[in-house]
Amino acid sequence: MLIIVFGKPGAGKGTLADLINEQYGVKNISTGDILRNEVKKGTDLGKHIDSLINKGNFVSDDIVLSLIENEILSSGNLLLDGYPRNLKQAKNLDKMLCKINKEINHILYFNASDDMIKERILNRIVCPKCSRGFNLLTHNSNLCDKCNTELIRRTDDKEEFINRRLEIYSKETQPLVDYYKDRDCFTELDADKGINEVFDEFKNIAKNA
Ligand code: AMP
Repeated sequence: MLIIVFGKPGAGKGTLADLINEQYGVKNISTGDILRNEVKKGTDLGKHIDSLINKGNFVSDDIVLSLIENEILSSGNLLLDGYPRNLKQAKNLDKMLCKINKEINHILYFNASDDMIKERILNRIVCPKCSRGFNLLTHNSNLCDKCNTELIRRTDDKEEFINRRLEIYSKETQPLVDYYKDRDCFTELDADKGINEVFDEFKNIAKNA
């Protein structure tokens, strides 16, 4: 099983990925988390990645691919959150899958309005240990529900970077809708809705697939 999720930053992809992981046992790979882990290591590569992420820019296709290629090639059940993020990455992924005779089972496009995205990102707190995301308005504690670690704000979740991230999204990632929309496994989700409704929609798709 291979699931791809894409959409604007803060659309709820990671939260849905966690739910799919819990209920369906599909391993969740977030390229953003993998890149942030590289930053934590403090290596030269990590410093380079940090300087890009912190301006809201993308990391190069080659670097991202080198960090996740083995995972894609070797994992059975996998959900990719944040890859592909542009057409070049989507074409690379298709080539890679063709070589190993593997298919994408679900492509989930999270369609969300800019207003909703801004509100969610500005209220997002995340667990630095297990990467789970929470909303300040609904989570009444500064600790992670899952691993009890103190929650933090992401360094790129600042007002001054949101417009830049949305601009890059429109230019680089939005074209994936046209690239994927005619495939049978493509689904557009209304990501302005709450996560429970979005998850219900996924469960319906999974049941009928
Ligand atoms: P995310 O956690 O998905 O919001 O990703 C955080 C940041 O990581 C993005 O703003 C990009 O700078 C970088 N990033 C994540 N995935 C990719 C990718 N597939 N290609 C390039 N940069 C990426």
